[in-house]
Amino acid sequence: MWKQRLNHNCHKEESGRIVKTDIVCNLLRTVIYTTPEDLVPVVYLSANRIAPAHEGLELGIGDASIIKALAEACGRTEQQIRIQYKEKGDLGLVAKASRSSQSMMRKPEPLTIRKVFKTFHLIAKESGKDSQDKKKNHIKSLLVAATDCEPLYIIRLLQTKLRIGYAEQTLLAALGQAAVYTEEHSKPPPEIKSPFEEAAQIVKKVYSVLPDYDKIVAALLSDGVWELPKKCDFTPGVPVGPMLSKATKGVSEILNKFQDVEFTCEYKYDGERAQIHYLENGSVEIYSRNAERNTGKFPDVVAAVSRLKKTTVSSFILDCELVAYDRAKQRILPFQVLSTRARKNVSISDIKVDVCVFAFDLLYLNGQALLQENLRIRREHLYTSFEEESGFFQFATSTTSNDVEEIQKFLDQAIDASCEGLIIKTLHEDATYEPSKRSLNWLKLKKDYMENIGDSLDLVPIGAFHGRGKRTGTGFKEEVLEERSTSLRSKVIPKPKSYYQYGESTNPDVWFEASEVWEVKAADLTISPVYRAAVGKVDSNKGISLRFPRLVRVRPDKAPEQASSSEQVAEMYTAQKHNHNDKQDDDEDD
Ligand code: ATP
Repeated sequence: MWKQRLNHNCHKEESGRIVKTDIVCNLLRTVIYTTPEDLVPVVYLSANRIAPAHEGLELGIGDASIIKALAEACGRTEQQIRIQYKEKGDLGLVAKASRSSQSMMRKPEPLTIRKVFKTFHLIAKESGKDSQDKKKNHIKSLLVAATDCEPLYIIRLLQTKLRIGYAEQTLLAALGQAAVYTEEHSKPPPEIKSPFEEAAQIVKKVYSVLPDYDKIVAALLSDGVWELPKKCDFTPGVPVGPMLSKATKGVSEILNKFQDVEFTCEYKYDGERAQIHYLENGSVEIYSRNAERNTGKFPDVVAAVSRLKKTTVSSFILDCELVAYDRAKQRILPFQVLSTRARKNVSISDIKVDVCVFAFDLLYLNGQALLQENLRIRREHLYTSFEEESGFFQFATSTTSNDVEEIQKFLDQAIDASCEGLIIKTLHEDATYEPSKRSLNWLKLKKDYMENIGDSLDLVPIGAFHGRGKRTGTGFKEEVLEERSTSLRSKVIPKPKSYYQYGESTNPDVWFEASEVWEVKAADLTISPVYRAAVGKVDSNKGISLRFPRLVRVRPDKAPEQASSSEQVAEMYTAQKHNHNDKQDDDEDD
């Protein structure tokens, strides 16, 4: 009686997503019925994680340790493993082949998912002297116990390269749907009309405010999906996914979109997004756009917010941008300067690049969540909870106007103040904080949108050609090219991954692991018979390519999964087309 809900009328990609959700849902149902205590490890491992991002627990192993462990576990030399790795392009396949050709004296104890997960935690927690050796021994113990296809998946999991081919949103939807089937909690409240869709939405929404599978799975198992929002809510100390904005191309588009609603324009600062949590016990944590704990990088920010919060404030969560700042000249410095700061265990006395906090939102204050309040109220709380101090802590500069010329002037001021442009936000209606969402209630306007394709794109390099002759017109500065090629050299893989999409005639000299995100600008987006980006979205079998691409910067704050999606690329192409048409129409009118 496993349920398959295939809607034959829906779009191919949509139906693909439904099938995948059903498959994952069935897997999770099986786990819930048979060994519910396996659900947490199953969910984490299928999300390619071992713990919530904000806990910062990472395996911390490279291919070298895995190769060593594999060699020892299978009685082969490291050299043999490396040669085979080069041939097969996948260390998991090498492990599988090595284990299956090994004769076993006795059958090993079955390897449970809980045991694997527990060992992964042990690996992550090893630190200090000899830790690499200890990590290797843990890996070896897993490989020795692994049979059949297990070595393949253990290695891929260790390399965090499982890549089953679905996004985390699919896993969340499947988790909600699987929970609908659980016997004790299956009966939905009468107001729920489409239980599967609504259960999926509930889990996605809860995860956006509490990205912690331990807590969500425990609540699902004990109280079911309909009670989940009551059991798992926004919790200080766990970062919520940041609200994001949509790109627009000009002031008039904004006025069209925000007709009849109150909105405010804020400077769009060019630094690092930060969510700062100040807990009742006085502890402070700073989280990145990716929910990673960044507290060790910014001890000066910890000191500034603790000093500049008013005495009436006992706890808060602040949304802000951390920006490199020259306090003597009282001016903002470019993002590139900020990126030179050390990343870990920084001590205040060693800091060379000062940072100013530009605060724009307050999500929690004195024990109360403010997410459901409108921006006007959240901002009032923000303004009354902190003292500003120039160069240390300032509120984002803002103005409220619906006059095209005034907004245009404000945009110019923002650019003069070394900001990227403006973010325009609804103030009153439709103005709650929408975690993890690229929302139409926040619109970004960058100066150069009007000059080229709208927003920049976040792309992942997966292949490259060796340079030939004089290097001109590649969009790279010499030293940047050198830096990138050094960093990508360790990411070269012998063959493209099965999930890479590329045209048959694209034959790069080297392929890379999907590892870095590059912010790229271009003059234009064009339909391409060769490249496969967003294929099937604007043209059934052609993709989209960039004309005159230029690397703006590398985005260490974004993971490959957060690169621009096919939908975004298609949207940008369509918006550009409309824009061109609008221009032509205007010309004809003239
Ligand atoms: P981009 O690559 O343009 O920075 P993004 O994908 O990181 O975009 P967007 O939602 O597109 O995120 O742009 C909003 C980003 O701008 C935020 O993540 C934040 O880092 C930054 N920012 C700077 N000033 C503000 C502000 N006043 N309000 C909101 N975000 C701001």
